[in-house]
Amino acid sequence: MDDCIFCRIIAGDLPSTRIHEDDRAIVIMDINPATPGHALVIPRAHARDISDISEDDLGHCAVVAKQIAARAMSGLDAQGVTIMQSNGAAAWQTVFHYHVHVIPRYDDDPLVLPWNPRSAAAGDIIEISKAYFQH
Ligand code: 5GP
Ligand code: ZN
Repeated sequence: MDDCIFCRIIAGDLPSTRIHEDDRAIVIMDINPATPGHALVIPRAHARDISDISEDDLGHCAVVAKQIAARAMSGLDAQGVTIMQSNGAAAWQTVFHYHVHVIPRYDDDPLVLPWNPRSAAAGDIIEISKAYFQH
């Protein structure tokens, strides 16, 4: 995938600051960090998003994200960690090689919840739930 920026980083053709690597995934520091310490877990095998990635790589990235989250709590003195992962442009994905954001959170950080919690009618919630059973 010559045109994929993360494949090029994995191949070593583009520089990155790596904080973990193993045979299935690497973890790099995000160049535009949401908070200090923002990292990205990236599988070595190219996959566009969650619909494309193998279940083995998906599971491995989850385990690595857990390890990086623990290191953020201990090494960076984070008070929390937000794990975020976007699929499709509508969901804010901008790099189309699957990755998991590990975002250390601090009591005074500037991040805000990206939605406004609003109640919905119980009937509407039940109605939309039925769509999950359609294929
Ligand atoms: P997405 O928007 O797809 O969920 O996340 C893509 C992330 O990759 C963004 O947070 C962006 O800052 C980061 N990013 C984009 N290009 C590069 C790059 O060349 N190097 C690094 N380290 N991060 C990048
Ligand atoms: Zn790629």
